[in-house]
Amino acid sequence: MGEREKHMGKIRILSDETASQVAAGEVVERPSSIVKELSENSLDAGATRIVIEFAKGGTRLISVRDDGFGMDADDAVLCLEPHATSKIRNAGDLATVRSMGFRGEALPSISSVSRFRLVTREPGADAGIEVMVSGGKLESVKEAGAPPGTFVEVKDLFFNIPARKKFLRGEETEAAQILQVVHGLAISSPGVGLECRRDGRTLLALPAAGSLDVRIRDLFGAAFLDRLIYVPPFVGEGFELSGFLSKPGEGRRDRLQQWVILNGRPVTCQEIAQPLREAYAGVLQGGLQPLAVHHLEMDPTLMDCNVHPAKRLVRFVQPEAVRRAVFDAAQAALMRQRPTPSPSPAQSPAPVFRTPEPELPRRLEPDPPPQATSLSPQPPKPLETPHDQPPQAPTQPQAPEIPFRMMGRVGDYFFVLEGPEGLVLLDVRSARERVTFERLIRQMETGSAACQRLLLPEILELPAREHAWIADHREGLAEAGFLLESFGGLSLKIEGVPALAGHREPEKLLHEVAASLRSAGRLPRGHGLREVVAKAVCRSAASSLTSVSPEEAALLLKELLTCELPYAGPFGHPTMIQFSFAELDRKFGRA
Ligand code: ADP
Ligand code: MG
Repeated sequence: MGEREKHMGKIRILSDETASQVAAGEVVERPSSIVKELSENSLDAGATRIVIEFAKGGTRLISVRDDGFGMDADDAVLCLEPHATSKIRNAGDLATVRSMGFRGEALPSISSVSRFRLVTREPGADAGIEVMVSGGKLESVKEAGAPPGTFVEVKDLFFNIPARKKFLRGEETEAAQILQVVHGLAISSPGVGLECRRDGRTLLALPAAGSLDVRIRDLFGAAFLDRLIYVPPFVGEGFELSGFLSKPGEGRRDRLQQWVILNGRPVTCQEIAQPLREAYAGVLQGGLQPLAVHHLEMDPTLMDCNVHPAKRLVRFVQPEAVRRAVFDAAQAALMRQRPTPSPSPAQSPAPVFRTPEPELPRRLEPDPPPQATSLSPQPPKPLETPHDQPPQAPTQPQAPEIPFRMMGRVGDYFFVLEGPEGLVLLDVRSARERVTFERLIRQMETGSAACQRLLLPEILELPAREHAWIADHREGLAEAGFLLESFGGLSLKIEGVPALAGHREPEKLLHEVAASLRSAGRLPRGHGLREVVAKAVCRSAASSLTSVSPEEAALLLKELLTCELPYAGPFGHPTMIQFSFAELDRKFGRA
C-alpha cells in the first residue's frame, strides 16, 4: 500500500481540460492549422460554399462558414468532446476512410485554446443552436437563428496559454500560411465555391468551378495556367494520377507551387516530389522545382494517412509504384510537348516556348483544353514503346515539317526565324547542347559513339579524387568515345575524345567530365552515367561554337526539331522563344 501511495503521489490523470490543451499542441500548431481543420470539416459536411475570414494573422479571429448538413442540438455539444467523431466507428474503418477528418480531435482541441463559438443548423430543422466555449469550458448552449449549415468562430487564439502564443510568428507570416492552406483547399476542391477575407478585405472570391483548369485560372491567373501542361489520367494499380505540370523550363526555387492532392487532401511526400524533379532534370535549370497541380486518387487500403496528426504526411504500401507512375506520367507529358512528325495542318502543334520575362509574349500550344478533369478511370495512354513489341534499333527521327524561315543572326548566338505563329528566336548554344546530348546518349545506348583520335595524345595529371572518378568510370567513358590509358601514378594518356565534343582542349573536357561526376553525388551507373557524361560533352560542344552561319543554324534547327525534348537544353535553358503575331500586334497597339 505504502509503495502504491508513493507512485500515486507522482502520477496524475490529467483533467480533461489539460489533456485537451496538451493534445491541442499537435492539432493546433498555428492559425493556419485551424483554418485547415475547420474547412475540412466543412468539406466532410458536403458544403458547396465555404467562407473563411481571419483577422490579425488569425490570432484575433478565424471564422469558417459552410452550407453543409449541419448538426442537431445533441451533436453540436457532443462534437466538442475529445474523440467524438461521426466519421469512423472503430480502428478497422481507418483502412477505408474517405473523409478528411476521423480523429475527433480538432474541435475539442481548438475550443480548449480559444474563445470558441459554434452555430449550426440542419437544413430541415426549425432553428439552429449556438454553443460557446472559452478555454475548454462550456459557457452556454442556446437556440439561435441561423442559415442551414455551420459557422465556427475562433477568437483570441492561445489567450489562456501564453507560452504557445510566443511561438507564433509575425502577422504576415501567419497570414501567408493561412493563404497557403486556402489555396490548397481551392485546388483540391474546385467544385466548392470559396471566399476568403482578411481584416475585412476580400482576398479571394472563387465561384464553384466545373474543372480543375478553370479553378487554377481563377486562383492563380491565366499566365500561371499558361506555364502548365495538362496531364491526362494515368491509371496504375489501385490509383490514378492526373492534373497539370510545368512546361519545359518552367519552375521555381521552392515547392510552394507544387500541389499534390491525395484523395482530396493536400499532402507533401517525397514519393511524388522526387520523381517529378527527376523527370524534369533534363528540361529545368538546376535548383528549380517543377510546378504541379497533381491529383492522386488512391485506394485507401494502399496508403496510411494516419501518420501525422494534421495528416500532412502519408505512407504508401507500394511507394515504388507511385514513384514510377509519377515519373512516367511526367515524362509522357513532356514527350507530348515535342512536335509530331509531318503534322497535318489541323492538328499541327505550335511549339511551346518559354519566355524569359512575364511581360514578354507567351503564345502557346493549342493543347486541347482539358475537358472536365474528372478523375474517372480511363485506360492509361501507352507511354513509350509498347512492351509487347520487340525492341527496335532506334532510328534517327524525322524532322517535322514546320515552315520556319531563317531571317538572320543577331549577336553571336541568336538567330531570328519566322515561324507559322510568329517571330522565333533561337539560341544556338542551348540548341547545340540539346542536340549533342540526345545524340550522344542514343549513340552510347547502341554502342555507336564515334571517337575522335588525337594526332598527339595528351598526358594529363589529375588530383587523386578526380583520377579515381575517371578510373572508376573508364567503361562508361569508353562507351561515349573517350580513349584513355593509365600513364602511371595519377597520370592519364588521352588518345581520343567523343567526336561529338567539338574541337576543344581534351584536357579541359576531361576535367569537366570529372566535375560532372563529382556533382552527380553518388557514383552513377547505366543511364545515370550516360547523362552525366553527355552533359559534360554537350557543354563542351556548345562552348566550342564560334561564328555560326545561318546555313549551319538552319541545319541545327532541323536536328533540334527531331529531339525528344526540343524546347529546352539539358541544363534547362530554353532553346527557342516565340513572340506570336498576336503578341506583336498587342505590343504595337494593333490588337
Ligand atoms: P473529425 O473531423 O475528426 O471527426 P472534429 O473534431 O473535427 O473531428 O469534428 C467532430 C465532429 O463534429 C465531426 O465528426 C462531425 O460530425 C461534426 N462536425 C464538425 N464540423 C462540422 C461541420 N462544419 N458541419 C457538420 N458537422 C461538423
Ligand atoms: Mg475534423
